[in-house]
Amino acid sequence: MTGVFSLLPDGRPGLLAPLLSGAWLSGGSEDVSRYLAAGGYAPLTAPDRLLDRIAAAGLRGRGGAGFPAAVKIRAVRDAPGRAVVVANGEEGEPGSVKDRWLLRHRPHTVLDGIRLVAAMTGAERGCVYLSDEPAERAVHRALAECPPRLRIDVVRTEHTYVAGEETAVVRRIDGGPALPTAKPPRPFESGVGGAPTLVANVETLARIALIYSRPEAALAVAGTHLVTLSGAGAGAGAGAGARAGAGVAPALAEVPAGTHLKVLADLCGHGTAEAVLLGGLFGGLHGPGWTDLPLDHDGLRSAGAALGCGALHFLHPDDCPVGVAGEAAAYLAAQSARQCGVCVAGTGALARTLTSLARGRAGADSADQLHRWSRQLPGRGACGLLDAGARIVATLLAHFPDRVDAHRRAACRACAGAAPEDGRRFTVPVP
Ligand code: SF4
Repeated sequence: MTGVFSLLPDGRPGLLAPLLSGAWLSGGSEDVSRYLAAGGYAPLTAPDRLLDRIAAAGLRGRGGAGFPAAVKIRAVRDAPGRAVVVANGEEGEPGSVKDRWLLRHRPHTVLDGIRLVAAMTGAERGCVYLSDEPAERAVHRALAECPPRLRIDVVRTEHTYVAGEETAVVRRIDGGPALPTAKPPRPFESGVGGAPTLVANVETLARIALIYSRPEAALAVAGTHLVTLSGAGAGAGAGAGARAGAGVAPALAEVPAGTHLKVLADLCGHGTAEAVLLGGLFGGLHGPGWTDLPLDHDGLRSAGAALGCGALHFLHPDDCPVGVAGEAAAYLAAQSARQCGVCVAGTGALARTLTSLARGRAGADSADQLHRWSRQLPGRGACGLLDAGARIVATLLAHFPDRVDAHRRAACRACAGAAPEDGRRFTVPVP
C-alpha cells in the first residue's frame, strides 16, 4: 500500500478518509461547502466545555513532544495579556509530510482549529506558519472562501530542521531569523510581540476541530495518528547511497494508536526491514524487537524510543545501521543553527566519529567516546537537535553493539555508498 491510506474502521472520524473517497474534494483541496455541512465552523458557545473535552480525551500535541494539548491551551489562556494562536506547519523533521499534506488538502480544518483555540484562549490574532508554497496557496484560498472573524496572518519561513521549533517560530513571526532562542521565557509566557502565544502543530489543531464537530468520538480522534512511512524497501539497487529515495514509495497513513509497527511495515513493503528510525530523527534507531513496538507515545517511551512527529523510516536488510546513524548525525550537524557551542562541537564530533566508524577508520576508543557523548549531550542545546543526535547514537550502541564492534575491525561494504549530510535518504515528497 502506498500513497495515502487510512486504517481506521468505518465510521471512525479521520482526517484522510473524507478526501480519499473524493467526495470532499474541490480543486485538490477540501470543499468548503462539504466541510460546513459536516459541522465545520459551527459557533462555539462554551469554550471551557470544549477544553474539558480535549483534556478528557487525552489529546497530545502532534509536533513531536507529545505534550497534553489541554495543559498548553490552559497555560496560554491563564497568562496575562491578549493571546496569539499559531498553527505551526513547518515540519523540519525529515521524513514527515503530514503537516504539509494537511495544509494543502484540509486547510479549513486547520483554520477551524485556530478559531476554536482562539476562542478557548481569548486570542484575537492567529497565524499560519509554513514554508511550503502549495500549502500557502491552499491556506490563502481557504481564507478567501470563508473569511475568519479574527485576524489570521500567513507567515512564510525557510525549510530547516530548527525553523519549526517553537521559539524559532515566534522569532520569525516577529521579523527575525527562524532560529531558536534560550528558554525561559517560553512562548506561552512571552511569545509573538511579547503576548502569550500558543504554538500548536497543525495536526493538533485539525484534531481539535474534529473533536468539536464529532464530540461522541473525541477519545477515538485523540487516539489516532497521522504517520509518514518511508524507507529504501525491498528490491532496490545495491549501496545505501544508491538506494536513497528509491525502492518502495513512501506513504502517509492514518492509524489507531497501538498499531504495531510491523503491521505498518508489512503494508508498505518494508516487512523485511531489520531496523527502524523513529520520530523523524528524534526517536532513535531501533533494531531487534522493533516489530513488537506499538505506535503509541507511552509504549514507545517505555522502550527507550519516541514517536516524535510520527515519521518512520524503515531500514532495508542491506542497509547498515552504523552508516544510517552516520548519515543522520551528519545531516544534524549540517542543520545545526550554530548558535550553541556545545551543539556545533557535539554534533560535529558525533558525525565525524560515526563516519570514521562506518569507514572502518575509527580509533579503539571510539565506542567509549560515543557512549560518553550520548549521555552528556542531551538537554545542553537551546533546542532538540542535539538531543536527536545523542539519541541516535545511544540507540545505535544499545541495539547494535555487534555491528558497531565489527566496524572497529574492518570497513563495511554497505557503508561505502552512504550519502552523508545531504539528508536525501530521509527526504519524502508530499503524496
Ligand atoms: S542546539 Fe544546535 S540547532 Fe539548537 S539552537 Fe543550539 S546550535 Fe541551534
